[in-house]
Amino acid sequence: MTDAPLLQVTGLTKHYTGHRRLGQRIAGVPQTVVRAVSDVSLSVRHGEILGLIGESGCGKSTLGRAILRLHEPTSGKVIFDGTDVTALDADRLKAMRRRMQIIFQDPYASLNPRRTVAEIVGLPLRLHGLAKTEDELRAKVAAMVEKVGLKSNQLDRYPHQFSGGQRQRIGIARALISNPEFIVCDEPVSALDVSIQAQIIELLQELKAELGLTYLFISHDISVIGYLSDRVAVMYLGEIVEMGPVDAVLSRPRHPYTQSLMSAVPEVDAVGHKTRVRLSGDLPSPLNPPAGCKFHTRCPLATDICRSKAPVAETVGDGHVSACHRLAENLSLLEGATA
Ligand code: SF4
Repeated sequence: MTDAPLLQVTGLTKHYTGHRRLGQRIAGVPQTVVRAVSDVSLSVRHGEILGLIGESGCGKSTLGRAILRLHEPTSGKVIFDGTDVTALDADRLKAMRRRMQIIFQDPYASLNPRRTVAEIVGLPLRLHGLAKTEDELRAKVAAMVEKVGLKSNQLDRYPHQFSGGQRQRIGIARALISNPEFIVCDEPVSALDVSIQAQIIELLQELKAELGLTYLFISHDISVIGYLSDRVAVMYLGEIVEMGPVDAVLSRPRHPYTQSLMSAVPEVDAVGHKTRVRLSGDLPSPLNPPAGCKFHTRCPLATDICRSKAPVAETVGDGHVSACHRLAENLSLLEGATA
């Protein structure tokens, strides 16, 4: 891993506009705005795993797709290896996609059931012109399929002939066949049995080391994030509320939301029983997010200022930032509030 950022995201915002029922504009009917991702800035260094953690629906997957421009950002910049991805035309974006890939969460829905493994994994080679002949293409697919733990004699099978874990290996082979440098791993183990999750995580670690990859690893499972990541970004309702080295953030979380995530996992509850924070209520709707700090409707430490003014991120340690009005007091207040 080097200190140079491979990916630099600045002020990335993704809002979806439309109508709740029909999804299209109707004269006289106000449009709704879903604020899925708001003003996110982060960087990922060469060879690093940045874990992105948060509840389902907080905008993690949208952020990953907006970085790759699979969903067009509303505003903000994505700089990849010195190139402004957000400014690329269609041809140059297609070329850039060879270097920036994604592994999807659902190994069932993400594979075309009518295509064989050879066709699915070989498609990026065709799209990017990376094989001169059919024989070369098939040989490259066979080598990649074996690299992810499948057999080259399975190339002509269809996705339904494989287990969930094997299908995810096919998805990983498809992501890696074009020799990318950066991978968005979008909850790649969430849909798998626990025993299979460990195998896929191990495979992703081996491939990262062997191929020199850089990951943005998205998960709602803080144990997985803690195990894999070099740094972690904590997302709540479309915003990054805390970010830093994984050891610092998980052993001394400074944002009440991060503390609540840690409290939900006893074996990684580094701040101890006294400081447990229980989340109440559901994640508010991104259609109508709360004013001020978006976490104030669920935060046990919320005060008047939290309801009217959004906090800005402050440095609380080496490379560790957190956005909360009560950073100076929150650890002792939490102990008092929950003892
Ligand atoms: Fe809680 Fe206020 Fe901090 Fe938001 S700013 S996390 S509501 S204490």
